[in-house]
Parts: sequence; structure tokens; C-alpha cells
Amino acid sequence: MPGTLWAIAEAGPDGHLTKLSAEVATLVRGLGATAGRDVAGVVTGAPGAVAAVAAELAAYLPRVVAVEAAAAAASPIAALAAQGAVQATGADTDASLFLGNSPDGRDTAGFLMAALGVGVISNAGGVAWDSGPVAEKGVFGGRLITTSSFADGHGIVTVPLGSVPAEAAASSGVVETVALAGAGAAPAVKVLERVSEAAGAVQIEEAKIIVSGGRGVGGAEGFAIVAELAEALGGAVAASRAAVDVGWIPYARQVGQTGKIVKPEVYIALGISGAVQHKVGMQGARTIVAVNTDPDAPIAEFADLFVIGNLFDIVPALVAELQAHKA
Ligand SMILES: Cc1cc2nc3c(=O)[nH]c(=O)nc-3n(C[C@H](O)[C@H](O)[C@H](O)COP(=O)(O)OP(=O)(O)OC[C@H]3O[C@@H](n4cnc5c(N)ncnc54)[C@H](O)[C@@H]3O)c2cc1C
Repeated sequence: MPGTLWAIAEAGPDGHLTKLSAEVATLVRGLGATAGRDVAGVVTGAPGAVAAVAAELAAYLPRVVAVEAAAAAASPIAALAAQGAVQATGADTDASLFLGNSPDGRDTAGFLMAALGVGVISNAGGVAWDSGPVAEKGVFGGRLITTSSFADGHGIVTVPLGSVPAEAAASSGVVETVALAGAGAAPAVKVLERVSEAAGAVQIEEAKIIVSGGRGVGGAEGFAIVAELAEALGGAVAASRAAVDVGWIPYARQVGQTGKIVKPEVYIALGISGAVQHKVGMQGARTIVAVNTDPDAPIAEFADLFVIGNLFDIVPALVAELQAHKA
């Protein structure tokens, strides 16, 4: 049916459908029900590997196209994912395409925009339907929320993690497997190296408890104390951009406007002033606790619990107390 709503999914490094793609598929199914439109999913990957991901995607959508691309193992997947999506969506010029706002999702959206000649709304925190996708997104560091739609009622939307909870459909859909037409021409980009995060490190997007360090932590070695508290609480370590920019901790741990948006149950900010660009990444936390030597730090205005003091005194005392309770 013309005007189908498509979820363009991706596999994670573990070869499984990403949580974000499952959320996108759930969002698309909900929008389809509201709009009275057909919904479908597409995933592109190496022959032999893509079938399993497509089967996982079919738990969320009635129809999934698995595009086998022989070049997928060697080429940047975003370029091939876009070609696979163009092939699957075919001649449906009224289709709307939804992707996760992951690094690969953003790249794929860019390729699709060029290939299909349609607009993109990126990082839309909320998507509704009114004759077409209507997307809400924060601008000016989250100070304003804009509502955008496409002039001709269809386009490409990327959504961040946590926009909707992933929920499987009542029954699994059908999977069609097709081969990518042509050789799968990828642009001249070489992947030189893939660096995996330390095994066992809890991803900040998924963590229920986050302990985050800022410039006040004082150096890379200061993050040991942040990690100790995170471990005592079973949480993940995150950081402000000030700490990331000076190389104390990898970028993957950055929270904020140019980092990740997180929504944990508890966010503990240690030595973080609470600049608006940081706030937009963590203001969705259910409870915000901040430790800061400066009683006038901006974070005092939006923390649920604001502890005035030196983190190097407070955190060890807190860890000792937690360990005493566990013993
Ligand atoms: C376009 C743009 C995008 C940006 N994106 C991001 C982003 O994604 N994420 C982000 O975080 N920032 C971002 N920033 C940067 C942001 O504006 C701030 O500069 C940054 O968040 C400050 O980090 P911080 O709070 O760690 O450092 P600071 O602002 O220097 O604050 C350090 C805090 O630690 C406290 N402190 C010092 N010593 C101690 C101690 N011993 N115990 C307790 N407290 C102590 C101080 O009182 C102070 O409040 C962006 C900026 C721009 C312009």
C-alpha cells in the first residue's frame, strides 16, 4: 500500500537487533495503527547473519524485508543499509522511514535523504501522527521544544533511545529475504579499526543508576572514585563533556547535548556544575543527586538532592556505608 511506514533496523556488535531498533519498530507499529497505514521493517546485512536479525525484528512488525548484502562484512554498513532500504521501499514515494538516532542510523538517514530526495527530522524525542509524522525535538540546548512535520506529509525521522518502550506484537510477522541488487556500491570510506568498550562495562543508555563525573573529579585518576561508587550501586559510569574533552574518560560515556541522552532512575552528578548542555542529557532521570563544593552551582536548581561538599570526602564515606550495608 502506498505510504507504508518503515522501520529501518540495525544489528548491534553482538549480531542481534539493537534495543533502539526494537523501540523504533514499536513506534512505527503504533503510528501505523493510528494512521491506518501499512507498516514494515527492513534490515540489511551479510548473508547468513541478517536472517537472525530479521527474525528478531519480525517480533515487532507484520512484515520484514531481510536484504542480503555480500559487501556488508567489508563495507560501512550505513551505506548498504540505505541501499537495502531504498530497494525494499521500492516505488512507494509516499513512504515514511524511521531509524534509530545511533551513529549508523544517522549515517543511513543521510544516505537515504540524498537517495530519496526527502527531508529528515533528526533526534525526535516524540513522534505522533497528523496526516504524516509530527515530531517533537528540543532545540537551543533543550530550552525550546519544536514541533515539526513534513510539507508533503512524508519523510525520514530518527529517534533517540528511550522514546517508547520496545513491545513485541501479539504475533510475529513474515520475513522476505532478498539479495541486494547490484554489487552494493559503498562510498570510498575505509573502516580502519573497530574499538570495543571494555567487556562488562554497563552501557549508560541502559543503566538504571548512573554515577557521573565532571571537571571537579580533577583527573583521569579521579574517575576511580566515580567507578567505585558506580560499582557499589550496580550502576554505570558517565561524564560531562569537560571530563571527556580532556581525555579522562571516553566519549561513549558523555552525557548531554553532544553526548548521550539518559533516563536512569538515579543520576548522581559528582563535580558537575549543571550547564544547560549537560542538563538536556540527564534531566529525564527520575532522581538527580549532585555533590558539589559550590552552593551556587546551577545544578542546585534542578537536583532533587543537592549535597554541598567535597566529593573526595563524601564519596568514600558513601561507598563505605554501602559496603557496610552489603556485608
Ligand atoms: C555546543 C556545546 C555542546 C556541549 N555539549 C555538552 C554535552 O553534551 N555534555 C556536557 O556535559 N557539556 C557539554 N557542553 C559543555 C558545557 O557547556 C559545560 O562546559 C560542561 O558541561 C561543564 O562540565 P563540568 O560541569 O564537568 O565542568 P565545570 O562547569 O567546570 O564544573 C565543575 C564543577 O565541579 C565542582 N567541583 C570542583 N571540585 C569539586 C570537588 N572536589 N567536589 C565537588 N565538586 C567540585 C565545581 O564547583 C563546579 O561546579 C557543551 C557546550 C557547547 C557550547
